[in-house]
Amino acid sequence: MLSNLAARDVETLIHPYTNLALVRETGPLVLERGHGVWVYDTDGRPYLEGMAGLWCTALGYSNEELVEAARDQMARLPFSHLFSGRSHDPAIELAETLKEIAPIPVSKVFFTSSGSEANDTQVKLTWYLNNALGRPRKKKIIAQRKGYHGVTVASASLTGLPANHADWDLPLPGFLHAACPHHYRGAEAGESEEAFSARLAAELDAFIQREDPDTVAAFIAEPVMGAGGAIVPPKGYFAAIQPVLARYDIRFIADEVICGFGRLGTWFGAEAMGVRPHSLSFAKAVTSAYMPLGGVTVEEPLYQAMLDESRKIGTFGHGTTYSGHPVACAVAIKALEIYRRDRIVEGAAEKAPHFQRRLSALAEHPLVGEARGVGLIGGLEIVADKASKRQYDPKAGVAARCVAFAQGEGLIVRFLAGDRIALCPPLVIAPDEIDTLFDRLGRALDRTAEWIRQEGLQ
Ligand code: PMP
Repeated sequence: MLSNLAARDVETLIHPYTNLALVRETGPLVLERGHGVWVYDTDGRPYLEGMAGLWCTALGYSNEELVEAARDQMARLPFSHLFSGRSHDPAIELAETLKEIAPIPVSKVFFTSSGSEANDTQVKLTWYLNNALGRPRKKKIIAQRKGYHGVTVASASLTGLPANHADWDLPLPGFLHAACPHHYRGAEAGESEEAFSARLAAELDAFIQREDPDTVAAFIAEPVMGAGGAIVPPKGYFAAIQPVLARYDIRFIADEVICGFGRLGTWFGAEAMGVRPHSLSFAKAVTSAYMPLGGVTVEEPLYQAMLDESRKIGTFGHGTTYSGHPVACAVAIKALEIYRRDRIVEGAAEKAPHFQRRLSALAEHPLVGEARGVGLIGGLEIVADKASKRQYDPKAGVAARCVAFAQGEGLIVRFLAGDRIALCPPLVIAPDEIDTLFDRLGRALDRTAEWIRQEGLQ
């Protein structure tokens, strides 16, 4: 029997990324409030938010300073836009701060309201750049299988997951996918991480040559893949592929939507993973998700091309009503101030070894084929047989069941395609809360193993 709110929910809402048939039976988990790393449902039950919402509430759920920043800006100038040369101080100050903390030279910043829009903008800017440079054939974009870049028509085309393509008539032509850099699944028997990286780089080179380098414009990658399963690239991966991209003058975009702002124990994932991109996409933790905000960095050559085009054709024809929304920018300024003042990024780096030790220990569990992570992000891969890495029938929904058991234990984690479970707690999680997270996850895995036995799953 669903509660009143739950019954109203299933009669009215389409839930993103949800099994719509299942949620009609189970009802949604209706959350009401949050404090620190905890969220509370309508019955007052607490859950440790082991996913920081959707990889985003880095500063937890009760940061009064962020609330104040929003309130002040709402009262002062709740809306203004950046079209037609208008501006406002929150957008200017935020762009200045982002230029300072970015790990690459940044000429300008363009704001969006989400990560999907940021990556959509990256696609458009890449096409725009090559038109401006008189290279109209150089338009294809290579992403990675299992990469996640969003859901707009272009960003879903970049995404390398079947659920975003099947039924949606995607990807669009000109969006290509290279191999997923996942050593556990992709390496040959006995192949070292370095050898696997070198092989992937050679394969990427051959792929670009087959496509014709004059038609390949950009490559996009997350420093660590999030929605694909918290996949950490093998040693030397980016060092191996970057010369290939440089050889063919391919714009390299790092999707920092999850990794940006401390997740890997560095300001940006690019620093932790040795990535040297031309441009970054960001969103999520830039405001600790208290307001929707994303954006892209624009490198000097691209800005010069934009200037030249503007002199020729006038208006730069891109932007949305909420690009640089003043309240979102004000919250982001405050969030970045807190990251710096309270050493949030350094704190994440200090807590990471403990988090990763507890994560690695789960690899001993009979159901866990691989436990992987870096910084304060982690992933588990559930297997039916550790030696062969064979998985359960996807229809059995083993990882989903484990996540439901975790919820029963008062822990929110996320299941991903391929019987994977992601962990991504707020960066402000305390060491004893890290222990609570893994104790509860361990119990959820035990209950899953028991359920598998009862069901007789093979
Ligand atoms: N890129 C990455 C790496 C992401 O994880 C996400 C969202 N999970 C996106 C882009 C899309 O962001 P949004 O959901 O804000 O559109």
